[in-house]
Amino acid sequence: MAESRPTLDIVAPFFNEAPSASAFAELLAALEAAVAQRFGMTVHKILVDDGSRDDGAKRFSQVLTGSWQIVRLSRNFGKEVAVLAGLDQSRGDMVLIMDADLQHSMDISLKLIAELVEHPDIDVVYAQNDRREASWRRSQLARLFYSLINSSQRFDIPENAGDFRVMRGAVARALTSLRDKRRFNKGLFAWAGFRQKALPYSPEGRASGTSKWSRLNLIAFSLEGFTSFSVIPLRLISLSGLLAAFAGAVYGAKVFFEVIFYGIAVPGYPSLLVAVVLLGGLNLTLLGLIGEYVWVTLSESKDRPVYIVRDVVRSDVASDRPTR
Ligand code: UDP
Ligand code: MG
Repeated sequence: MAESRPTLDIVAPFFNEAPSASAFAELLAALEAAVAQRFGMTVHKILVDDGSRDDGAKRFSQVLTGSWQIVRLSRNFGKEVAVLAGLDQSRGDMVLIMDADLQHSMDISLKLIAELVEHPDIDVVYAQNDRREASWRRSQLARLFYSLINSSQRFDIPENAGDFRVMRGAVARALTSLRDKRRFNKGLFAWAGFRQKALPYSPEGRASGTSKWSRLNLIAFSLEGFTSFSVIPLRLISLSGLLAAFAGAVYGAKVFFEVIFYGIAVPGYPSLLVAVVLLGGLNLTLLGLIGEYVWVTLSESKDRPVYIVRDVVRSDVASDRPTR
């Protein structure tokens, strides 16, 4: 191989994004040209079809230019896993992860890459969503989530930082060594460490379709974050149990004294009911939470692969990519 130029892999997962295929291919082509011109880097595109039910993969294969590959997963595994599937294929000196729905602009992508090129002491530059468009309630909830999950760790999960980021090859390799099946990328990125830098940005509106994140999805996803990265909920359980026991003891003492010193007959029925219902409810909720942790343990202990590849479609362009 002749002395080769540094390479940039662009990893983009997509799920039912056929309508934005040609626009995204155009964005990628423009980005590739700019990257080649400004930083002298060769670009290879790795798209991951996360089990789309439309003909997105075919559309992409018709409109993508240059050197590319489309990894088609055997079904929908979720974005977190799709990103891993892309990273597994990456060999580049740098790897950029971006969405295929045009919410991650070429402008910001270039800024991310420029930051990494200009700062040899930085390993990862991530885009940090300024959440200007989010409702107050949502952003407060997000803040609460991060403060809870970060309250007991040696690494911090930065607020509002998603997958949109560029990293050195070594970081990408490190990430692929984390084979969690129930993946929470924000946590994995933070866990992996390296020197990371934030770049604030506002995402574009979606070009077509809707976000795949419903409110229920978001709750499940936050729970995933907790169960794979935090013991705080378990500690809260112990604490609430302790508090309940303490309150019971205090109340018991009160009743005891009332009977002994004042001879007040205890009106028992309502307080009994309250105690039973309250503690019963609390018990069930907390059991469920422990169940979540057990479920994570169970799924991680099964010796299954994180995802299955159906096939890989490649561009005809002979690429001089190093093999690993
Ligand atoms: N995506 C995916 N698998 C999924 C859901 C989404 O690969 O199961 C892709 C989607 O096509 C898009 C990116 O992940 O390229 C971000 O998804 P989405 O726009 O739904 O999330 P948001 O932008 O709201 O965070
Ligand atoms: Mg999106």
